[in-house]
Amino acid sequence: MTIRYKRVLLKLSGEALMGNDAFGINRTTIMGIVKQIVEIAQMGVEVGVVVGGGNLFRGVAAQASDMDRATADYMGMLATVMNALALKDAFESLGQPARVQSALSMQQIAETYARPKAIQYLEEGKVVIFAAGTGNPFFTTDTAAALRGAEMNCDIMLKATNVDGVYTADPKKDASATRYQDITFDEAIVKNLKVMDATALALCRERKLNIVVFGIAKEGALKRVVRGEDEGTLVHV
Ligand code: UDP
Repeated sequence: MTIRYKRVLLKLSGEALMGNDAFGINRTTIMGIVKQIVEIAQMGVEVGVVVGGGNLFRGVAAQASDMDRATADYMGMLATVMNALALKDAFESLGQPARVQSALSMQQIAETYARPKAIQYLEEGKVVIFAAGTGNPFFTTDTAAALRGAEMNCDIMLKATNVDGVYTADPKKDASATRYQDITFDEAIVKNLKVMDATALALCRERKLNIVVFGIAKEGALKRVVRGEDEGTLVHV
């Protein structure tokens, strides 16, 4: 079986864990996603996961209601830790070894991020879940994903979304919108296409870390992406 990407960084938004719920963590949804990840791990792909927290708390939204932004962002980072623990639990329920490494120290519940240890886990076939984003307010988990992807020397960044790729226009609003099979970073930036936030995109481009944007809800999608099949949109240098 051919594998295009040996080591991947998967960015899961918090919203991907909600399923059709309005809030929180949907166990059936999380199990569906985790099964797809286990499938590629069993194919020999090394997987790092950066998980968001938007299903529980978002700093920007709290700022709108007059909260101090940095405090709100730390709360957002804590939300990602909850999601990371839920993911770890789901992996272990399927017999897949997984470790949580948090950018903020909270040693009773997760290891603190340490690059050599994370690389060691990846080499051992353990899924590494990176929690608490970058550990700094005013950043996003997209940027954390770019950072960890670069640090882990990943072959590709996989950005899981609700849409199955990058489109010429919003497919929910414009029926004539078509999916890009591939697009350059420059085109994505000039056309202001929503791939990842600007900081994340700049870091990926600078590190030549290409991105595949794909829909994780579709069964088997992740497997097709790591095999290099026509799935999602490849954003490349
Ligand atoms: N956050 C932060 N620094 C980081 C990553 C995340 O302050 O490096 C906070 C920020 O408040 C953000 C929240 O954590 O709104 C949840 O992350 P994000 O919005 O990226 O999650 P997603 O949209 O992927 O669910």
